Formats: sequence, structure tokens, C-alpha cells
Amino acid sequence: MQPNSLPICFSGECGCLVAPELRRIHEASTSAEALRPDLTLLVSRIFDCLKVLVQRQTIPSPEALGIALGAVFDLCMSLLYAERCTHTQWLYCPQEPIASFYPYMRSCPRCGRTDDLPTVAHKPASDSIGRYASLCLAAILAELCQRTRTGWNVRLLASGRGEIDMILFNAEHAVLCELKASPLTAFPICVFMRNLSPQR
Ligand SMILES: [Zn+2]
Ligand SMILES: [Zn+2]
Repeated sequence: MQPNSLPICFSGECGCLVAPELRRIHEASTSAEALRPDLTLLVSRIFDCLKVLVQRQTIPSPEALGIALGAVFDLCMSLLYAERCTHTQWLYCPQEPIASFYPYMRSCPRCGRTDDLPTVAHKPASDSIGRYASLCLAAILAELCQRTRTGWNVRLLASGRGEIDMILFNAEHAVLCELKASPLTAFPICVFMRNLSPQR
């Protein structure tokens, strides 16, 4: 990154009162790509698809693009949740078509049943959810900034470093962001099962 693409409070050229603190925040920040290159690559591929959908008018308006970007966020969150999947404590749903779910809430995500469930709901701890939400948002915003060539940069701060989770900046401006993870949608993993009973 060119030094002149930083706002002067970050670059060491500024003598204002908050400059040392802002420099410290910038130096401690990391890009989503450095943290999760696989997620960044996935988001880049999804944006290739979005570009085609916009060109074909399948996504016909800025509002529709906004909804699509929200869906990209939900998909990325669900994939990060799915990384924690184990082979135990799945929920069996006998309705047709027979399926098993890896649920995050204490109910069947398809029929809403709340009895006879695994003892564990697989919702990650809130610090993990916050970290996932920051990663997904940073990866999507960074890709958006790069593709629109607005000159904005997106960087993350490790959790537990005070209230600032993300910084956005271009050559003139810096935005200090605190991110909230809720409300969010995370889709449960579903596996459809063949009926192996002899009469079939
Ligand atoms: Zn300054
Ligand atoms: Zn069910």
C-alpha cells in the first residue's frame, strides 16, 4: 500500500491529539484477506457471479443488489458455522423426505419439533459469532471497495481490543466501527437420507 493512501493521522505526518492513538489502531489492524484468504477468495468468486447476474438483469436494481449482498453475508456466516460441524449430536427428522440436521437452536429447523432433541444446540459462543460476523463483513466490504475503485480500505482489529472492531479509510477520511452480529441468519446443515427399510 502506498503511504500517501493513508489519512495523515495514520501516516505519522499529523501532530493532532488523537494521531498517536489512531496510528496505534491502524498498526494493530489486519485485512480479512490476511486472516482468511479462503473466505476472501470465495467472496471474490461470488462477486464474479453477481456481476453476471447484474449484466443479465437477474439483479435488476440497486435494491435487489442490496438484498443479494445480504444473502452473501448469510451464506458466508453459515459456511463459517459449518466449519465447526462434528459427526455427533445431529437431529433426525422422520418427515418425508427423511433428513438429519445439525441445528443451532433447540428445535427442528424444518418441522419446529422441540421434544426428543440432541442435548446440545450447536450455536457457537458469542465471541466466535462476533468474530465470524466481522470477518464476513470485512471480506465483503473489501471486495466491494476494490471493485468499485472508491479508494476505501477495510481492516479488522482483533476482538478484545476495546470497542473498535473495524476501520474504514481512504486518503482523507477514517471511520472507526463497532460491529454488532445480530440479527443474523445461519442456515443449519441438512443431509437427506435414503430410506433403507426392506419394503422399499
Ligand atoms: Zn490528525
Ligand atoms: Zn423435524
